[in-house]
Formats: sequence, structure tokens, C-alpha cells
Amino acid sequence: MPMRQVKTEAGTLTYELCRKRVKNLNLRVRADGSIAVSAPAGVAVAAVDEFVRRKAGWIAQVEQKLADRRLPDPEYGALLGHRVPLVVEEGPPGVWPRQGALYIGVEPGQDPGAALDAFRLQRAEPVFQRALALARARFGQEPLPPVQVLCIRPMKSRWGSCIPAKGKVTLNAHLMKKPFACIEYVAAHELCHLLVPNHGPAFYQWMDRVMPDHRQRKAWLNQPDPGV
Ligand SMILES: [Zn+2]
Repeated sequence: MPMRQVKTEAGTLTYELCRKRVKNLNLRVRADGSIAVSAPAGVAVAAVDEFVRRKAGWIAQVEQKLADRRLPDPEYGALLGHRVPLVVEEGPPGVWPRQGALYIGVEPGQDPGAALDAFRLQRAEPVFQRALALARARFGQEPLPPVQVLCIRPMKSRWGSCIPAKGKVTLNAHLMKKPFACIEYVAAHELCHLLVPNHGPAFYQWMDRVMPDHRQRKAWLNQPDPGV
């Protein structure tokens, strides 16, 4: 969609112009504060600009309301079960550990939580590989098939999954918020699936054998996080 800018008394407004089969010009301010205008094909852009200019006062009011409603910046983040103080600043995007805190640089309107998710995802692989290695060591001399593919991504409804036939293990990137003992629990759970694909009694016999405290770890895993 083409973006346009108009100068108004209150400063420059940027809006997205969308040509639609509508009768009238239509303007809305989205939840993120961006402005979208839908216009019938026949209306000249100059007329659309003028329309936006006339609405500037109303737009300012709506944006102020949205700003008031916006959640305050999070104060703590979760990293391997720890509660880490966050310092959110407008600036170059990224996350930097400094003096026991994480500094999160965000562009205006950007969500610091999303920046933190990206930071954790970047650092997940060595952590998850270590959890898998330690979980594997628990099987001792048992012939456990290798993990051919480790996939790490954010998931909504599960901590991990395993496709035994492909040796593919997927771990939820959000595990980076959890204590390492919980990550190791999920790793052991998925490795057990390499031997038993379902959650039948044989599966739990393996879990009891390789990780006798797996139930406590699972309960710990589902505790609330100490931060975003
Ligand atoms: Zn399972």
C-alpha cells in the first residue's frame, strides 16, 4: 500500500492510502497508532491529503488516547529462570547485557518484549544442545537414535515435539525463559520419544528411569515466568 505524508499544523502525518470500492473517504487510526485511509478510485490524492489534514485534530486525540492506554514498559525479563532487570530505551534496536541488566533499544512503537524474544532465540541453540547432551547422557549405554535435526522456534501450545522416524526434535524458543533443569526435562521427554513415540506406560518407564524427578521438573516448568 502506498504511504503518503501530509503536513498539518500539528506536524507531518504519515498515512497508508488504500484504494477500495467505497463510496466515501474513510480514515481509521489503528491500535499501533498508524493511520489508514480508504478512498474510492476516482478521488485525487490531493483531495485525500486534504481530507487527512482536516482530520488532524481528531487523529491527535485518538493517538493520545492510545498512548494513555499503552502498557508501561516491562521492568523484568525472564532468562533461564532468572529475573533480569530491563532498561528500555528509544534508540538503535537490539538487546545488550550490561551491569546485571538487559538494555533494550527500541524504535518508537516497537514492543520491547519482541526484541527480548529475538535475543533469547538467538542464544537458544547452545543452551538447548547442552540440555540434549546432558539428557542423552542419562540414557547411559542404551542405544538411543541420534537427533538428526534440532528445530528451535516459538510455539504457543507445546514445549517440544519429536518425529522419531526423522530423528527431528523441535524445542520451543520460549523455553529460554525457564530454568535449565526444565529445559533438560523437555529434552529428556523428547529423547524418550525416540524410543517410544506415544505417552503410554513404556514412555513413563523410560522417564522414571532416566529422570526420576521429571514430575517436579514438569510442575516447575509450568510455573509463571519471573518476567516478560
Ligand atoms: Zn511427548
